[in-house]
Amino acid sequence: MAWPEALWRRQDLDLELKQSQQRLADITAQLHPPAEVLQAQQEAEAAAAAAEQARKEQKEREFQLAQLETKLQQHERKLYSGQVKNARELADQQAKVQSLQRRKSQAEDALLEAMLAREAAEDHAEETAAHASALQAEWETLRQAMVVEQERLQERLQHLTQEIAALDAQIPAAVLESYHYLKPRTGGIPVARLKGDVCGVCGMVVPPSTRHKVRRGEEAYCDSCRRLLIA
Ligand SMILES: [Zn+2]
Repeated sequence: MAWPEALWRRQDLDLELKQSQQRLADITAQLHPPAEVLQAQQEAEAAAAAAEQARKEQKEREFQLAQLETKLQQHERKLYSGQVKNARELADQQAKVQSLQRRKSQAEDALLEAMLAREAAEDHAEETAAHASALQAEWETLRQAMVVEQERLQERLQHLTQEIAALDAQIPAAVLESYHYLKPRTGGIPVARLKGDVCGVCGMVVPPSTRHKVRRGEEAYCDSCRRLLIA
């Protein structure tokens, strides 16, 4: 390949290299789970903990009620056994039974409340877990697609770097030096093709002597935009 064509190809590859590197950087930045996914996970974890707490609360209420029932049965048995004869003691025993009945009724209410709270907490835990897992699955699909693209880009970058090195070997050192010098000063497009008698990038007329050099394959520049001209 003559050096002007190698240079032209190199410019194309440089542009592709820059785009690929940019895309790779974007992907790397996006590979972290989005805030939405993390938030949904945190909500699901909190809801699961709340449901667990509600189950413990219900168990505690059930235990308290069972204790009261046992105590009440004991006092009722004593009251109706006929063993308590003394009027004062009988009245005390009746009061004790009535008090326990009230406490049992309150414990039943509390248990019912705890059961309803547990059901609501479990429903909420189920909903938030489903939401979190749907978001997680969606993110996982996206992440896998990005990982595939990331691998493809890494391979392409490696290939581009190798091809660029091979092209550089075909370009005269002075031209390559100009290319690197001009690249950041020309928006990444330091090479222009001669189109008839004008510069292919800036469109200004190129003097006949310069055109002559370009057509002979010599190093020449556009007077207007300073780009390296090739035929
Ligand atoms: Zn020009």
